[in-house]
Amino acid sequence: MIGILGGTFDPVHYGHLRSALEVKEIFGLTEIRLIPSAQPPHREQPAATALMRLHMLELAIKNQPGLIIDARELNRNGTSYMVDTLKSVRQEFKDEPLLLFIGSDAFNHLKTWHQWPHLFDFAHIVVMTRPGFETQNLDEFFKARLAAGITELAHNVAGKLYFQQVTQLDISATAIRNMIAEQKNPGFLLPDSVIAYIRQHKLYQRH
Ligand code: ATP
Repeated sequence: MIGILGGTFDPVHYGHLRSALEVKEIFGLTEIRLIPSAQPPHREQPAATALMRLHMLELAIKNQPGLIIDARELNRNGTSYMVDTLKSVRQEFKDEPLLLFIGSDAFNHLKTWHQWPHLFDFAHIVVMTRPGFETQNLDEFFKARLAAGITELAHNVAGKLYFQQVTQLDISATAIRNMIAEQKNPGFLLPDSVIAYIRQHKLYQRH
């Protein structure tokens, strides 16, 4: 099984990294691909450039076997839609279960994603629970897709929905950017190598 974690990673932090490592172990993934988005459709444009966000990811996952950076969205023009990303990953891994990991905050907005029902054509969706966000009552579409366990995900290549609790680290990139703008120390929320990069390039100094 292969995992996918998309995000802006502006900047990458221990909330992303710890979850990625945990789900890799829980689901026995061969690899988890961190896919930075070039032009996220749902939000303001990132503060750091795509290349900088990519460099920060590279620094963060050094020496972490099984965590892989996948820059395919940066090589594509226009808005980054997850459905296109999954379709393109699926072309590479024809018979392998693909697991798209999203935070529960992202799940609460899933129905605003471009062609959202088609996400399930290419991958399973696994919702990682995140502090402060309640999962809404599931509707029939989602209920019908609920997997009873990890074996069910392993026996199908796509189409299922699953909820997995991960260690709850209440860390967000927004809070980190604000801290830096206020000249506070973001230490222990993200890797030192990434903090050094942010300092060197004077990122996030303004709100
Ligand atoms: P921002 O504060 O800029 O919105 P973010 O910290 O939420 O950023 P993203 O890059 O947007 O980070 O998140 C990518 C994915 O990681 C999303 O699915 C999000 O739900 C998930 N995620 C982000 N922070 C955490 C966390 N602390 N624990 C678990 N999952 C997280």
